[in-house]
Amino acid sequence: MSFSQLGLCEPLLKAITEKGYSSPSPIQQEAIPAILTGRDVLAAAQTGTGKTAGFALPVLQRLAAGPKTAPNNVRALILTPTRELAAQVEANVREYKTHLRLKSAVVFGGVGINPQMKILRSGVDVLVATPGRLLDLYQQKAVKFEQLEILVLDEADRMLDMGFIHDIKRILKLLPAQRQSLLFSATFADNVMALAESITRNPIKLAVTPANTTVDKIEQQLVAVDKSRKIAALTKLIKAQGWQQVLVFSRTKHGANRIAAKLEGAGLPSAAIHGNKSQGARTSALKAFKDGSIKVLVATDIAARGIDISELPVVINLDLPNTAADYVHRIGRTGRAGSAGQAWSLVSADELEQLQDIERLIQMLIPRESLEGFEPNQVLPETKLLPPKKIKKPKKAKNQQADSAGKPQRNGNNQSRSGNSANKDGQSRPSRRRRVNPQAKRKAVEA
Ligand code: AMP
Repeated sequence: MSFSQLGLCEPLLKAITEKGYSSPSPIQQEAIPAILTGRDVLAAAQTGTGKTAGFALPVLQRLAAGPKTAPNNVRALILTPTRELAAQVEANVREYKTHLRLKSAVVFGGVGINPQMKILRSGVDVLVATPGRLLDLYQQKAVKFEQLEILVLDEADRMLDMGFIHDIKRILKLLPAQRQSLLFSATFADNVMALAESITRNPIKLAVTPANTTVDKIEQQLVAVDKSRKIAALTKLIKAQGWQQVLVFSRTKHGANRIAAKLEGAGLPSAAIHGNKSQGARTSALKAFKDGSIKVLVATDIAARGIDISELPVVINLDLPNTAADYVHRIGRTGRAGSAGQAWSLVSADELEQLQDIERLIQMLIPRESLEGFEPNQVLPETKLLPPKKIKKPKKAKNQQADSAGKPQRNGNNQSRSGNSANKDGQSRPSRRRRVNPQAKRKAVEA
């Protein structure tokens, strides 16, 4: 399938070609025509699937046909949970609208409000915002919603996890009832469904990518290691593999700082990124990571949500997240939009329960490797694959029974997935133990 078959206009097709996209991703194939109909849409799509273009392209097309934006007004509002994600989404919108006469802007907290007020003065067609700053701007009469046509809630599950429900409800009261609403979320727990029901009217429901499963292209490994030796093991691993760009996950902000400092001390240029850092520090750490002046970025789950670095080769979990779905979000930072990636987890014996939950969610046993000199004293027991838990997803509307032949597998009630030897036959893969071979791995990364 090509983008032109989705009903997109020439200026957008030109921008897509310039961006280097050759064909639409599954979520784009589904979401673009659905949004172009003008109906509300509820989509299960995790980060890394191309969901941003999935909503941004049709939103821009619908706006291109509409009236001029009045001062301080906004015609499409995209709400995101984090500043980084807001900046990333707006950067994408900006590229996609290159050949259209539309204006976009991004507003988030942690930076001065005055420049944002100034930008809004002449009216903005697409505004990407985090909830708190948007409300501040509204209170200061810097933004009006009389012309609002489209609302997008991006990563709705994260918004709720981060406690934005009250802000979102306040914002909803300010918006015209007559509008198109689009809600994107990686997961659909009860609270997300309740929010979706209050926001959307008779939505088209899409569930293209299995919401809680790992991207097939990512090569996953785990190394069993004693808790007290994790940072030393991490240092050895990064050096032995010769990795040049590594995203490390830490559960806590304090942990992230400590890890970055220790890596730095061991000769690996590193920085930490988390919610307690100023916006300036977060932006400059991300920039240094992108341009290669630091090799390791240590992030907490929330801070990492907005990071989009194409072909990020390696993600390491220094500790396992408490929520299994976060493991999927974390490793989704690598292997983005079709490029191969590696995800490593350093797992200590006390994390057995989290490991079992993760393996149950992704329906595979993560292959084990041993790291020379770091064999654990406290043994991490072998795990067994448990049957999948039922996950709630939006039900498919009857009129949306599109032909799925040739498209990636949808979220059905069965939890099977394709493309992974552990899952093709529903059998668990026996765990393998291999020695890390730095040369071989490095070649794989460079390939
Ligand atoms: P997202 O899931 O929106 O965060 O997108 C993940 C990455 O995929 C971004 O770097 C996009 O630029 C890229 N991307 C989006 N759509 C496509 C496409 N159709 N072909 C190739 N890359 C894409």
